[in-house]
Amino acid sequence: MINIIWFRNDLRLKDNPAIVKAAQKGRLLPLYIYDEQQKIGAAGRVALHYALNKLQEKLQGHLAILKGDPLDLLPKIVQEYKSESLHCNLCLDPLGYKQTQDLKQILPIDIHIHNGSFLFKPWEILKKEDAPYKIFTPFYKKVFPELDWLRASYEKTNLSFCAHNLSTAIENLDLLPKEGWHDKLSVGLQRGEDKALNLLDNFYHHHLSFYEQGRDRLDEEGTSLLSSYLHWGEISPYQIMEKVKTHPHSQAFIRQLIWREFAHYTLFHFPHMITQNLRPVFDNYPWDENSPLFSLWKKGQTGYPIIDAAMVELYQTGLMHNRARMIVASFLIKNLNIHWRQGMDYFNDHLLDANVANNAMGWQWTAGSGIDASPYFRVFNPITQGKKFDPKGKYVKKYLPYLQDIPSRYIHNIWQAPKEVLHKARIEMGKDYPYPVVDLTQSRQQALTYFHHLSDGSLSIKGMRKPK
Ligand code: FAD
Repeated sequence: MINIIWFRNDLRLKDNPAIVKAAQKGRLLPLYIYDEQQKIGAAGRVALHYALNKLQEKLQGHLAILKGDPLDLLPKIVQEYKSESLHCNLCLDPLGYKQTQDLKQILPIDIHIHNGSFLFKPWEILKKEDAPYKIFTPFYKKVFPELDWLRASYEKTNLSFCAHNLSTAIENLDLLPKEGWHDKLSVGLQRGEDKALNLLDNFYHHHLSFYEQGRDRLDEEGTSLLSSYLHWGEISPYQIMEKVKTHPHSQAFIRQLIWREFAHYTLFHFPHMITQNLRPVFDNYPWDENSPLFSLWKKGQTGYPIIDAAMVELYQTGLMHNRARMIVASFLIKNLNIHWRQGMDYFNDHLLDANVANNAMGWQWTAGSGIDASPYFRVFNPITQGKKFDPKGKYVKKYLPYLQDIPSRYIHNIWQAPKEVLHKARIEMGKDYPYPVVDLTQSRQQALTYFHHLSDGSLSIKGMRKPK
């Protein structure tokens, strides 16, 4: 009898409970179904293309690659191949979760949903009154002691595959853009579980000891770069935990892995967080719709070098440092007065690690509209953030190389540099580099006024005009 393995965000062979459990039952039919309903962004599709190639290599061509709606395709495949069971790993995004539940209703065979992608199942971590945690720290305190009891990694057993004629070529999924901008995403294109384990090893030996101090520095390589591999499941959080948990300086890093858990946990309990403010009072915030400043933010032409460098980093590499994500998000929301959803959608299209849970959590956290969010009055100042986390301007100059000769003293506030400094650096303001598109003090004050009106309720009536 044939046992189907339905791959989704678990594109690896090692520590994959769906594979191990299915293999214990007999012959395997591994498949991946590309489903356009998932609305994977452009960079994510590129990552998927290369990750599928690596998985196909590992499975020596046995992976069936299909395109369509799993709810249409799987019942036909089950019937045609007289399958005995279907194994997959838990998905917590609303579509993936619903599809699994729907399949349970329509497939005439056993469906086994394993936990290969998260350390905890969201419905198992609840407060005394059976309500979900809404604040990170108590969630973290609850789960941290349980990390000692995590399951061990699953070891792959001998795999035996059934022949099939289901597959299309990965190229036929049309995941790569026509114009070829993705060629620049060179680091992120090296995909697969071997690359992910390689990155983990490198991080463990060279960065983990300094992670707590280094993780916020934009000018240093201090983080694991594992987010896109975790998103596509080329590595599991268990593999990471097994490697790092006995290291004396791993706590700050583990805390970030728990943020990933918390984001998915929150998404499971509050699936509307992808589109709606988790604090409804923010529904009345007077965002500027159709602001021309959005396009300057996207292109990295705001006149604030740390913002512009970060946006170029995103476009060129498909990634952005976490500190930079917070700075550009705060700037978009609180200085440019543009809705967090617009920023989130742009990130979703351009990040290799674009992930509905982490992305929505990050944006709502920054906006203050999330359930455990940065206080609304915290507005990141791009100049002070730049000076603190990129003191010499190394990060800025990496992504805006034409600012190479601007001295560190002015790299985060170029418009204040004396004429002769600009002349020497061959920068003419307004021509080679834009003047700031917005005044930081005024725009911050405006945001605080809006937020103040929200919090005292005077903006709580729909359709109310902007306060003066
Ligand atoms: P490391 O510092 O090495 O952390 C290890 C792992 O922990 C990461 O790979 C990631 O899986 C997890 N992690 C770290 N920080 C966070 C966090 N703040 N929230 C949730 N998980 C975290 N992360 C994504 O994976 N996808 C996204 O779409 C995404 N969008 C974001 C949007 C905004 C506005 C913000 C502020 C953050 C976003 N993040 C997102 C979280 C974070 O920026 C990235 O996970 C991190 O930069 C990835 O780099 P790394 O793998 O080197 O992280």
